[in-house]
Amino acid sequence: MPELPEVETIRRQLQSRIVGKTIKKVQVLYPKLVRDLSGADFIARLKGKRIGDVLRQGKLILIRLNGKETLVMHLKMTGRLLLTQSASFVKSPSSHLEAIFTFSDGSQMFYADLRRFGYMKILPTQDEAVLVEKESLGIDFFDERLTLPEFTRLIRSRGKSQIKPLLMDQTLISGIGNIYAQEACFAAKIYPLRKAETLRDAEIEDLYNALHEILNKAIQKRGSSSDAYVDAFGQQGEFVPYLKIYGREGKPCPRCKTKLQKKNIGGRGTVFCAKCQK
Ligand SMILES: [Zn+2]
Repeated sequence: MPELPEVETIRRQLQSRIVGKTIKKVQVLYPKLVRDLSGADFIARLKGKRIGDVLRQGKLILIRLNGKETLVMHLKMTGRLLLTQSASFVKSPSSHLEAIFTFSDGSQMFYADLRRFGYMKILPTQDEAVLVEKESLGIDFFDERLTLPEFTRLIRSRGKSQIKPLLMDQTLISGIGNIYAQEACFAAKIYPLRKAETLRDAEIEDLYNALHEILNKAIQKRGSSSDAYVDAFGQQGEFVPYLKIYGREGKPCPRCKTKLQKKNIGGRGTVFCAKCQK
């Protein structure tokens, strides 16, 4: 699933290409893509709108339109937003193309989704905060209000939870998923099943710093294409070679050479080093 670095990569690419453009035409090929509106109403409300800005909250993309409306998109497991038509999967019937946006300059944006869990909806821009409440979305990890003391307070507020699923809990802090939660626990030398209340302040600080470092570096490399993810130009992200433990069970720990183990934690496979993660 695209996590913060992948969604941020797409957001930046969209921002560089579509801000200022006017939507001339929208085609919805898979009506269930649209939430809370009929496909026809969705199309009618978007037609003629100009793109003002492209924002991100956790894993959600928010496209601000003139007329004080916001187009909200969630890529879920396998959604792909593409600005290029040349990518072979857009042309292929197996790409599961769900929507096509055509701008007044003739350029296009495509939404394809193999597993079809992604969605789009339109909200009054003033309801973006309500959206965050309704979807119970926690503060974005890169929100400047998420300082170390605030991060520590949030982690301690769910003391009985295990740390790795807690980091992935979008209702507490949004943006971190299965890949980066594992990598951060490894970098901070924390066993992913530790209860949050057992973490010392210094360990929470290590986790906070590790997340900043890993997520920033992953954005620089346009994310991790360990699954279906590609960026808005159809290119794979380049962060996979920098992943230390994700997908590396049975291989030696990059720190101590102990064989890496894998456990199912909260329904998600989690790799860790039993020796150096305590
Ligand atoms: Zn180790």
